[in-house]
Amino acid sequence: MSANAASLANAATRALRAYDPGHDLPALRNRFGAVLAELGSNENPLGPSPHAVAAIQAALPEIFRYPDPQGGALKAALATHLRVDPAEIALGNGSHELLMLIAQCFADASNSVVFSEFGFAVFPIATAAAGARAVRVPALARDHATMPLGHDLDAMAAAIGPDTRIVYLANPNNPTGTWVSDAALEAFLARVPATTVVVVDEAYQEFVDDPALTSALRYLPKYPNLVVTRTFSKAYALAGLRVGYAVGSQEIINIIERLRESFNVNSLALAAAEAALGDPGQVARSKAFNLTERAWLTEQLHARGLRVLPSQTNFVLVDLARDAAPIEARLFEGGVIVRPMGGYGLGEFLRISVGSRAENERLLAALR
Ligand SMILES: *Cc1c(COP(=O)(O)O)cnc(C)c1O
Repeated sequence: MSANAASLANAATRALRAYDPGHDLPALRNRFGAVLAELGSNENPLGPSPHAVAAIQAALPEIFRYPDPQGGALKAALATHLRVDPAEIALGNGSHELLMLIAQCFADASNSVVFSEFGFAVFPIATAAAGARAVRVPALARDHATMPLGHDLDAMAAAIGPDTRIVYLANPNNPTGTWVSDAALEAFLARVPATTVVVVDEAYQEFVDDPALTSALRYLPKYPNLVVTRTFSKAYALAGLRVGYAVGSQEIINIIERLRESFNVNSLALAAAEAALGDPGQVARSKAFNLTERAWLTEQLHARGLRVLPSQTNFVLVDLARDAAPIEARLFEGGVIVRPMGGYGLGEFLRISVGSRAENERLLAALR
């Protein structure tokens, strides 16, 4: 037996590092209390629907039972909401789990996986965990006229080879906030071979107000190789419960179901997500709040001479035009948590979630 048990891990896992949670948020909450401004994780400051909270309380007495392994009630509610068949939906312990599962189901060491340079951080991890080769496609330029750092769909289509099994594309994207229109996405889908699964991650779809962007769901009937993922973590404000879903052709969903752990979504999460879906008013309020507050925050940052990238999400990517690390450290000391971008090679940028007005004011005050 080897002296180093770590060497027993398989090749794909040896290439990975454990998730870096960044700051120790529980410790920071103790230290700063109510004045902590948590603007690092794109959570919804309005909180969830009261119906979701009531549904959790109602489900509590049954906590000793296993959850419904099919999530039948939530799937039925989602199917009505999205106008798809329940068999076209897979549920996940957050959409993160589904993004990982899709890689495990469709890619292996003989394949490549294509995503944008500034695509969501989970894409390279999912690729590496499946042992596949990552093809990271350069994004649009920093000074691009309309969509700086956005996805370069032409370059992404060109990067797809015969061995490419998956393309991951977040729309709108995290961490850039950028997006591609329905028309651009449709033209891209038409160029992708039927042997490549296209995963469109729509974690921020509920915040979108650009009429040129609706959802990739409309292209599902035409493209059986398309999968759309969404989450209850952002606009629905249920990040702590971990519920996401994937929508795709029955063929794709059936494959995901083979690898899905039977009780991956817990009973409280199932009940809360279903109730949240039944309260569209809360999502509408969250969207409206985010629109006005993001516009205000952007204006305030502009007034301080900072460049803010266009965003269709509940965060903004801010260009500080110099090393952001010391500024992030100062904000941190003042109890304002934002997300540094050095890991993406964007060391001059900070990603800042749109918080409550009080949190945003604390951020602006600390920036001075
Ligand atoms: C937050 C986020 C997710 C959602 O993750 P969950 O696991 O559902 O909480 C997925 N994709 C992107 C791009 C995100 O920013």
